[in-house]
Amino acid sequence: MPKLRQLVLGTHNRSKGGELAELVRSLPCEVKTLADFPEAIEVVEDGDSFAANARRKASGQAVHLGAWVLGEDSGLEVESLGGSPGIFSARYAGADATDDQNNRKLLAELDGLPPARRRARYVCHAALADPTGEIRGESEDFCCGRILTQPAGEHGFGYDPLFEIVEYHRTFGQLGPAVKRCLSHRSRAIRRLVPSLRNLMSLRWV
Ligand code: IMP
Repeated sequence: MPKLRQLVLGTHNRSKGGELAELVRSLPCEVKTLADFPEAIEVVEDGDSFAANARRKASGQAVHLGAWVLGEDSGLEVESLGGSPGIFSARYAGADATDDQNNRKLLAELDGLPPARRRARYVCHAALADPTGEIRGESEDFCCGRILTQPAGEHGFGYDPLFEIVEYHRTFGQLGPAVKRCLSHRSRAIRRLVPSLRNLMSLRWV
């Protein structure tokens, strides 16, 4: 009996991995995370864009594991900070910064700015690599919002307690996973990729 294809979610970030797993749940494949592969590498994110980093994460891990890998790079761009922290979102307050430290730095940078100058967007670039490292599909999308002056809500991760969806008057931290799954940059990018993922993943190993 032919085996279903395996798809490895190429992130060490557990929160992201959880969200990605939900988003690819309907695909006809066996979904694994890097936690299933003790030999997984730490891909250096030294690209100059979300796209370059996502491709690197997908390709590098795919070649190393000999597997199909879905890589993803994402972050927060704040308009009045010229797009910062952008690709440096995870390490905004320093190399090993916690979410809390990053959030505090962001609040300090925006201190005193009125709501109209606190516009921001989350960006996500997703890339699928085959076991040779070739990128077979990719997509990018974003989600617009505003940075509050103090955190609100316990859900999500990263900047979610500060990121307000203006139409809802709530942060992703308050809105929770079901709403985030509909609106987020990650869900939008993955939804765009799902048709080609479905085609590739429904091919079976011979
Ligand atoms: P990456 O793992 O290098 O892609 O870093 C992503 C970083 O961007 C995270 O550590 C967060 O700081 C931020 N980020 C990306 N997506 C989200 C999200 O959905 N919610 C909150 N923060 C996010």
